[in-house]
Amino acid sequence: MNKHKTKFLLRLEEMIGKGSLFTAEQDMAPHLQDQRGRYKGNACAVVFPSSTEQVAEIVRLCQQEKVSIVPQGGNTSLVGGSVPDESGNSLILSLKRMNHIRSIDADNFTLTAEAGCILQDIQQTAADCDRLFPLSLGAEGSCQIGGNLSSNAGGVQVLRYGNARELVLGLEVVLADGRVWNGLRRLRKDNTGYDLKQLFLGSEGTLGIITAAVLKLYARPREIVTALVAVPSPTAAVRLLARLRAASGESVTSFELICQRGLEFAERHLEGCQLPLDAPSPWYVLVELFGGRADRSLHETLEESFGECLEEGLLSDAVIAGSETQRNKLWRLREGIVEAQKFEGASIKHDVSVPVSEVPAFIEQGAEAVMAMIEGARPVPFGHVGDGNIHFNITQPAGMDSAAFLARWEEVNAGIHDLVVSMGGSISAEHGIGQLKRTENMRFKSEVEIDLMRKMKSALDPTNLLNPGKVI
Ligand code: FAD
Repeated sequence: MNKHKTKFLLRLEEMIGKGSLFTAEQDMAPHLQDQRGRYKGNACAVVFPSSTEQVAEIVRLCQQEKVSIVPQGGNTSLVGGSVPDESGNSLILSLKRMNHIRSIDADNFTLTAEAGCILQDIQQTAADCDRLFPLSLGAEGSCQIGGNLSSNAGGVQVLRYGNARELVLGLEVVLADGRVWNGLRRLRKDNTGYDLKQLFLGSEGTLGIITAAVLKLYARPREIVTALVAVPSPTAAVRLLARLRAASGESVTSFELICQRGLEFAERHLEGCQLPLDAPSPWYVLVELFGGRADRSLHETLEESFGECLEEGLLSDAVIAGSETQRNKLWRLREGIVEAQKFEGASIKHDVSVPVSEVPAFIEQGAEAVMAMIEGARPVPFGHVGDGNIHFNITQPAGMDSAAFLARWEEVNAGIHDLVVSMGGSISAEHGIGQLKRTENMRFKSEVEIDLMRKMKSALDPTNLLNPGKVI
C-alpha cells in the first residue's frame, strides 16, 4: 500500500473509529462482488458510518484526497451498480449502520427512516402501527431503503402504489461537496420550485448519498385475495387485468404473468411448487387484490368476475387461495421461476417494459426474434405485467454449451432492446442501469437527454467522485 493510501486510511479511522472500517481482503470480499457474480471490483476499504455527519465528513475527506466513493446498501443490485471498478481507488461507503427508524407519524401516514434500514423492517414497523409500506420485492429481507430509492426499485405492487420514487415525500442527502441537504419534508403538497428529491431518486448513487427519507404509508388492507388463473394467451391476460381493475374499483395490487415453461421448470426442480389446477395452460396470471373491508366482499367480486371471464374465454380455470399457506404457495410458484431456470443451464436476461397494451405483441415478436437468432433457445417471459414490465429471460437450448450461449448475450440483448424501443418501451424497467446497461442505454437516449444527464452530473458532482462508471 502506498504512503498516500495509508495516510488516507489512518485519517478515516481517526474520523469514525477502528471498528468502522474493513481493509482486509477477506472482510471486504462480500462487498466487492455483485450478487449474480458477474462483477468483481477492488476497493481501498469498506467504511461503515453511523450518522449523516460522519457520511459528510467522509465525503469531504474523499474529495480532498481524490478517492471515489461507491455507496452501497444491501448489494442486491442486478446491474452491478453497487460494486466498484477494478482500480482499487474507490472507497465503499456502506449505509448498513444507519438503520434507525427516526420517527413514524401514523396520522400523517409517514415514516422517516435512515438509508440503511432493511426494507422488510420498514414494512414491519409500518404494520405494527396498522399501516402499509407497499414497496415489496424478492430481495426485501436484505436490500436497504437507501438502495431501493437510489435505484427507484419496482417490485410486485407497482400497479397499485407506484415505484419507489412515488413512495417518497422527502430526502436527506449528502452532496458530493460534503454539504448536507435536509429535504426531510413530510408534505403531500409542496409547490415551491424544483422537486430536488427527484434528482437523487433513481440516480444510483451518482449524484448524492441518500442518508434518510420520509416515506409514504397507506392503510393496511383488511382483506387480501390471491388467485392463480389459467389464461389462453397474453392478450387474454391483458383483457382480464382491465376487467378486474374495473370490477374491483382499482383494488388489483399485483398482476404477474407466468409462462408454462417457467412453471414447468419450477415444478421440475423446486420443492413445494405444484400447479394447483387440474390441467396445464400455456399461460397463467398470479393476481392479488387488497381490500379495505374484512367481509370477503373482494373475494366475492373476484369469483363473480372469474365466472364471467370464463364464459367469455378470457380464462380457462382459476384457484383462489383459501389460507395464508395457500397464498404463500402461489407466490412461491411465481418467485420460483428465476431459481428454477438455473437448473436448465445459462440464461440471457432482459428487464424491459412496454405499454401494457403492447405486452402480447412484444412477447410474440421477442420470442420469434430470439429463436431466429439461436435455434432451440427457450424464452421464459414472466413478470409484473400489470405495469408493462416483462422479465424476458432466455434459457439456453437443451444440451448447448453454456459459455457459447452466453457469448451471444450482447447480440440477443441488442435485438430485444431494438424491439422494445420500437414499441415505445424501456430497456430497463426496474433494475436500473449500473454497469450492465450503461453503453446500451447511450444507444437509445437522444443527444438532448444525454446532454442534460451530463450537465446534471457535472453540476452536482463535477469531480466524478460518486459511483464513477455507473449510469453515465
Ligand atoms: P445496492 O444493490 O447496494 O445498490 C443499488 C444502487 O444504489 C447502487 O448504484 C448503489 O451505489 C446505490 N446506493 C445504495 N445505497 C445508496 C444510498 N444510500 N445513497 C445513494 N446511492 C445508494 N429490483 C426491483 O426493482 N424489483 C424487483 O422486483 C426486484 N427483485 C429482486 C429480487 C432479488 C432476489 C434480487 C437479488 C434483486 C431484486 N431486485 C429487484 C434488484 C435489487 O434488489 C433492487 O435494485 C434494490 O432496490 C437494491 O437495493 P440495495 O439496498 O441492495 O442496493
